[in-house]
Amino acid sequence: RTKEMGRNHYQIYHPLITSKTSERLEMENLLHQALEKDQFLLHYQPQINIKNQAICGMEALIRWEHPTLGLVSPAKFIPIAEESGLIISIGEWVLRQACEQNRLWQKKGLPPVRVAVNLSAQQFQQPNFVNIVTKILAETNLEPQFLELEITETTIMKNLEFSCQIVHDLKHMGVHISMDDFGTGYSSLGYLKQIPFNTIKIDQSFIKDLQDKPQDLAIISAVLAIGRGFNVRVIAEGVETQHQVELLRKLECEEMQGFKFSKPLKPEAAANFLSNHFRA
Ligand code: C2E
Ligand code: MG
Ligand code: MG
Ligand code: MG
Repeated sequence: RTKEMGRNHYQIYHPLITSKTSERLEMENLLHQALEKDQFLLHYQPQINIKNQAICGMEALIRWEHPTLGLVSPAKFIPIAEESGLIISIGEWVLRQACEQNRLWQKKGLPPVRVAVNLSAQQFQQPNFVNIVTKILAETNLEPQFLELEITETTIMKNLEFSCQIVHDLKHMGVHISMDDFGTGYSSLGYLKQIPFNTIKIDQSFIKDLQDKPQDLAIISAVLAIGRGFNVRVIAEGVETQHQVELLRKLECEEMQGFKFSKPLKPEAAANFLSNHFRA
């Protein structure tokens, strides 16, 4: 009986739904101020070529440091930023910050490396996106080959023809393009023929249980074959253990990113990583 009442009580008040909505609104308000108050920062995660131990890239990952909420994860605030349209200005901040940081590292004489920036669908679909990238590269004085833009299958599929044009324009400028979280969207493989990616990033969900899931090995192996056939680089995301490194190495996957090599680092630590671990 008590159980029954409890259930009814829950159904009437919907406490979860109510609190989620107000939390979301509150977050949106705080996000509005975050840019002005300079509460965003970027961490950088190295990408390693295990064959020659070179750093093949640094992925910029946004962090939100709120004075009372503490560090808020992008998984939590990016969806809200997308829904509210704030992602446009946040995304532009990320792009400028990452290019500026990379140029700063170069000026300090650190080994030149490509910085990878995540794009959300709205940002990529802005009619003037190519101009924005051009402008930011010019303002930060970064050569285009030192910038990589990460897009997801879902973003691409929102408008395949348009995406194809934008990717061509960006590549023509010399910017690198990668397909993030590959294998997690609902798309067909056909788009790979139309969109000239430089890199495919195998989603970490395929790497996670690699050691006891032969199906994952088969999928990774197939993606690597696609990469070879298309002359596209392939990188494995979320590599955490030596065992995973060995399994991937056997499949001749050369590029990896994950906690095994480094967590995402604050800019100073990323600079140290660059100067200590780089092999040309
Ligand atoms: P993503 O682009 O796929 O980034 C990889 C995520 O995996 C990062 O989480 C990274 O910290 C985490 N990671 C890296 N290595 C490992 C590992 O070995 N094990 C595990 N378990 N995780 C690992 P993070 O930084 O929390 O970012 C989550 C997602 O938020 C990103 O996924 C990306 O989709 C989005 N994001 C991050 N920064 C930005 C940004 O500046 N703009 C946009 N639009 N999205 C961003
Ligand atoms: Mg990414
Ligand atoms: Mg990813
Ligand atoms: Mg992801």
